[in-house]
Amino acid sequence: MNLFDVYSLFNVVPVKGRGCKVWDDKGQEYLDLYGGHAVISIGHSHPKYISAITEQLGNIGFYSNSVINPMQARLADKIGKLSGYNDYSLFLCNSGAEANENALKLASFHTGRNKVVAFHKSFHGRTSGAVAVTDNPKIVSPFNATHNVEFATLNDIQSVESIVSKGDVAAVIIEGIQGCGGIHIPTPEFFKQLADLCHKYGTMLICDEIQSGYGRSGKFFAHQHAGVRPDIISMAKGIANGFPCGGILISPEFKPTVGMLGTTFGGNYLAMAAAIAVADIFEEEHLVENSAKIGKYLLDNMPKSPKIKEIRGLGLMIGIEFNEPIKEIRSKLLFDKHIFTGVAGTNTIRLLPPLCLSKAEADTFLAAFSELLK
Ligand SMILES: *Cc1c(COP(=O)(O)O)cnc(C)c1O
Repeated sequence: MNLFDVYSLFNVVPVKGRGCKVWDDKGQEYLDLYGGHAVISIGHSHPKYISAITEQLGNIGFYSNSVINPMQARLADKIGKLSGYNDYSLFLCNSGAEANENALKLASFHTGRNKVVAFHKSFHGRTSGAVAVTDNPKIVSPFNATHNVEFATLNDIQSVESIVSKGDVAAVIIEGIQGCGGIHIPTPEFFKQLADLCHKYGTMLICDEIQSGYGRSGKFFAHQHAGVRPDIISMAKGIANGFPCGGILISPEFKPTVGMLGTTFGGNYLAMAAAIAVADIFEEEHLVENSAKIGKYLLDNMPKSPKIKEIRGLGLMIGIEFNEPIKEIRSKLLFDKHIFTGVAGTNTIRLLPPLCLSKAEADTFLAAFSELLK
């Protein structure tokens, strides 16, 4: 049987990882500045992470959400402490798209409204509601497009107000930093105006921190650079370092009723063991602080080149936009310099390394990158 061919694959077979390094089946070492798409937060194969999951599997691997799983409450406490959102509550699921589905559903339940505003260049996932608020015609099917969604422009508050002021919008959904759209950062001023606007019209503000959250931007959540407090915050990617896990933080204004949300696998024992180990390692190794520090170091020391149009980023979420397609330079980074990087659109290289990236590893990239630009 063939695999359904939806990915454009690099000819690399990773078989081992440690920290920010990966090795392929031929023994070649790579520096990982992609983190498996912003998923590897604490680094590959951390010994504490491995023992937390394997120990849990030796005790009990799975039971359903019909019984008490104390690890869910432990994770909620830890995320409350790491994020500062102690007064919010946590709903657990398995992925980013699911987190956004639940966020949209909850906002609609709460407001009794069915309209949503999203932003141009957004990406929120590939399930039905999540893809409907995504601005990418390639991945939105005619069925998804029947959802009641209007698109506004990032950093243009008028474009949001003209829709939200009609008073029938359940939610505005915004990425903490737009990732797949090319690393576009909402200004703190725009974020504040957006929060005020939503508050004024009874519209829920959903912040998608699936990629930009969990320390990636140099604060726990990217929207915390603006000092706003969204009504719902969605998380996934870095939360369990590759073990499937997602969740939403929900403000105290929402009242749960039995059955309004639910999941079979969400909050399962192995995902909780993984996510708790990740949260512990975040604290012990000061990964949010490291993300801020090394991210700034990278931005401050990027090589200059006429080929580069603009470099944007916060913490270890960095986009390098070129004046030309980047297919060739990205291939050279991978196959000549053995460095994994990501991409956004056709012209932007995206750096999303594990948050434990060292200064020496950052220097390795900077040297290789400036050589390729010559
Ligand atoms: C990856 C991503 C998603 C979707 O997450 P999945 O786990 O792939 O469903 C949603 N929003 C953003 C901003 C993402 O980067």
